[in-house]
Amino acid sequence: MGAVPGAREELDRLGRALRRQLVDLVDDLAPDSDPSLPPLGEPETVHGHEPLRHRYSVDAFTGKRPAHVSAADTASRAADLLDAAGWEVTTSREDTDGTPHIVVTARHDGCGIEIRTTDHAPTIRFAGRTPAVALHEPQEFRRPRPVRTAETVTPGYVLCYECDGLGWCHGCEGRGRLPDPTRGRINCPACHRSRVCVICRGAAELAVSQLSPYQHGYYPESER
Ligand SMILES: [Zn+2]
Ligand SMILES: [Zn+2]
Repeated sequence: MGAVPGAREELDRLGRALRRQLVDLVDDLAPDSDPSLPPLGEPETVHGHEPLRHRYSVDAFTGKRPAHVSAADTASRAADLLDAAGWEVTTSREDTDGTPHIVVTARHDGCGIEIRTTDHAPTIRFAGRTPAVALHEPQEFRRPRPVRTAETVTPGYVLCYECDGLGWCHGCEGRGRLPDPTRGRINCPACHRSRVCVICRGAAELAVSQLSPYQHGYYPESER
């Protein structure tokens, strides 16, 4: 699986820019916060997509709002700072567990920042995320070689009628999962991720002596 050229560098650049912006906001809006904003760490994996994507995120860092500043003033200052830094800003009001909050959300370069504050607590919550970036080329799928062929089938056996000797599930060809345009990947509905052919269970061949009358129908030339 090859790395996408420049993808990690770009993700790191976005991560650094996002953190810098959050540090500026915390310094300005919640200067007495202790501890300060944690470092970024490693990008997290966003599961369920092929190829896998990665992003940096800061989840709900809680800062201290100065006693003399209202939630509304904090929100409007946050919006001004982000707007001046080139972010696209939206401010909304939300009830969380019956407590009214002011929420400032901002987007820039695919990154997102959210700032939540309320007059009911002396706190400001900061969160941010880079876009999810594919760091590796999608794995190229190679159809597996058949487990049995007409040349290698065991005497007294016939090639499995379901997979024709492949041995692997004919639905996913042994992948266990299938690409899906909306969900990224889905479990194979034919084998439910067992990956092998549901009839021969991977053997790729069936003993003629054990074929059911129904299965004989697939082999008109076979002797009962
Ligand atoms: Zn089979
Ligand atoms: Zn399958």
